[in-house]
Amino acid sequence: MSDDLKAVEAASYWKTKRLEDLSASEWERLCDGCGRCCLNKLEDWETGEIAWTNVACQLLDGHACRCRQYETRQAVVPDCVALTPTAVRSLGWLPPSCAYRLVAEGRDLYWWHHLVSGDPETVHQAGISVRDRTVSEAGMELEDYEDHVVDWPGEDPDGEDGDGRF
Ligand code: SF4
Ligand code: SF4
Repeated sequence: MSDDLKAVEAASYWKTKRLEDLSASEWERLCDGCGRCCLNKLEDWETGEIAWTNVACQLLDGHACRCRQYETRQAVVPDCVALTPTAVRSLGWLPPSCAYRLVAEGRDLYWWHHLVSGDPETVHQAGISVRDRTVSEAGMELEDYEDHVVDWPGEDPDGEDGDGRF
């Protein structure tokens, strides 16, 4: 294999590696920065159906769509789920656009993913992220979450026009 071909393959590592085989750096870079997994959701105890809200975790920066205390987050938010390859395959609520879910399903990343576009802003420009569309859970009563149910986090990532928009 030529050096050029190796370089192309290395740059598109998500196409050739399993989640289990990613380095720590590759794993972290795979996150598209959408912030969708940091929203609260409501589960119907009888049906198991999930309803997403626009109520964000207290640590989410609603504009940057990043965790404010990523390294120490579980000290503040003990129920923050640490993603692992096993967790990605078993968590039914991961957004369909989530890069980890796409790779686990053997699918390619969308054009707006920064590893494809080369620009971390495209996930926001494409309307995939939760940028400026959330409210914080801080100070909010649980019974008020029902007033914040939204449907965009769970919609089909292929969308009506098939380009990954929601
Ligand atoms: S949904 Fe997936 S890609 Fe988006 S922020 Fe969460 S882990 Fe990252
Ligand atoms: S602690 Fe951080 S990573 Fe976990 S849900 Fe909250 S904002 Fe997201």
